[in-house]
Amino acid sequence: MANSRFEYVKNFEQPDHLLPNTWVVVRIDGRGFTKLCTKYNFEKPNDRRALDLMNAAAKAVVTEIPETTIAYGVSDEYSFVFHKSCTLFERRASKLVSTIVSTFTAYYIHLWSSHFPDTPLSAPLPSFDGRAVCYPSVQNLRDYMSWRQADCHINNLYNTTFWTLIKRGGMDGKEAEKFLAGTLAADKNEILFSKYQINYNNEPEIFKKGSVVFRDYELVEPDNRDLAKVADDAAEPPQQSRTQAENEKKQRAKARVVVDHLDIIKDDFWGRRPWLLS
Ligand code: ATP
Ligand code: ATP
Ligand code: MG
Ligand code: MG
Ligand code: MG
Ligand code: MG
Ligand code: MG
Repeated sequence: MANSRFEYVKNFEQPDHLLPNTWVVVRIDGRGFTKLCTKYNFEKPNDRRALDLMNAAAKAVVTEIPETTIAYGVSDEYSFVFHKSCTLFERRASKLVSTIVSTFTAYYIHLWSSHFPDTPLSAPLPSFDGRAVCYPSVQNLRDYMSWRQADCHINNLYNTTFWTLIKRGGMDGKEAEKFLAGTLAADKNEILFSKYQINYNNEPEIFKKGSVVFRDYELVEPDNRDLAKVADDAAEPPQQSRTQAENEKKQRAKARVVVDHLDIIKDDFWGRRPWLLS
């Protein structure tokens, strides 16, 4: 294309390349989902249909964008992790975030009717915001994932107790909030158990732990875990030939993407799936 006299405007674009060699997390979050829950009568505190829809959309994103290695979701949010070696879009933040957000939103809306067959969508349609954050070490990345899962646990215990007080205890929102002010986790477990015979441990894993989406290979047996230590940042990456790398890439693209509800705070999950962090 010949240069036009308008082309100088291109220089107004700001570079936004993310720091090389860092783990990139793109977290998306539903916009105004408090309102959306009311509009579509989400069951409180956990609407299973809505969670399954979030997971289906996230699975589609991970499948369609093979550069994502793992994703974690809870409530109306999902975090997608790009490997530190990822060079997609030259690591431009706006490109990465907008591609994840629009792919996720497109699938969320496309798949809505199979999860809410009796509740058609109407404007304003569901939408999501997104941001990218770089984590320089595996420890930082794991702490990020742990932070989200710990948040899931704290919120779910609170919400489960709060809504039990309302639905079964006849309180209104204000009374339940006041009743729970200053209570610790143990207190909430006790309230659920002694007043309502609910053992929090028996609540569905998807509510307690949130959801992890990742590519499934053969698990490393716990006994062999020493051989497959969680990646050590300081260690040199193993040298790989080009064909080896290509083959691995192909294999990765073919691997099944799964959704599960596992503990990602403890070492076990990562130790048995060394490909996620290496
Ligand atoms: P913002 O646009 O700032 O994110 P928001 O209303 O979406 O505002 P969040 O902090 O993201 O605020 O909270 C999401 C709300 O949606 C929470 O109240 C959460 O309980 C509710 N929610 C999300 N998913 C579900 C679900 N599957 N079932 C029931 N409630 C849900
Ligand atoms: P990238 O992902 O890098 O954007 P791309 O294939 O989308 O790759 P663009 O530079 O965005 O590349 O170009 C979009 C292409 O789609 C062009 O070839 C353009 O002519 C074609 N295209 C877009 N809209 C239409 C349309 N309405 N009718 C015909 N062709 C179209
Ligand atoms: Mg938000
Ligand atoms: Mg939200
Ligand atoms: Mg949220
Ligand atoms: Mg274009
Ligand atoms: Mg284009």
